[in-house]
Amino acid sequence: MITITRKIKRCPKCGSTDVITIAGMMTGYKYQCRDCDYIGVLIIEEDVEKIDE
Ligand SMILES: [Zn+2]
Repeated sequence: MITITRKIKRCPKCGSTDVITIAGMMTGYKYQCRDCDYIGVLIIEEDVEKIDE
């Protein structure tokens, strides 16, 4: 049995996980939610444990 931990990104506005990363120029990374069009540097990262049996 293998436990895989991976991070998912969640939109702070609508809670969707359909979030893409936009490469910024001087400011680093920004994130865009494809559900509600939120764009910003604030994102919720969650650890998800997936167990493969
Ligand atoms: Zn959103």
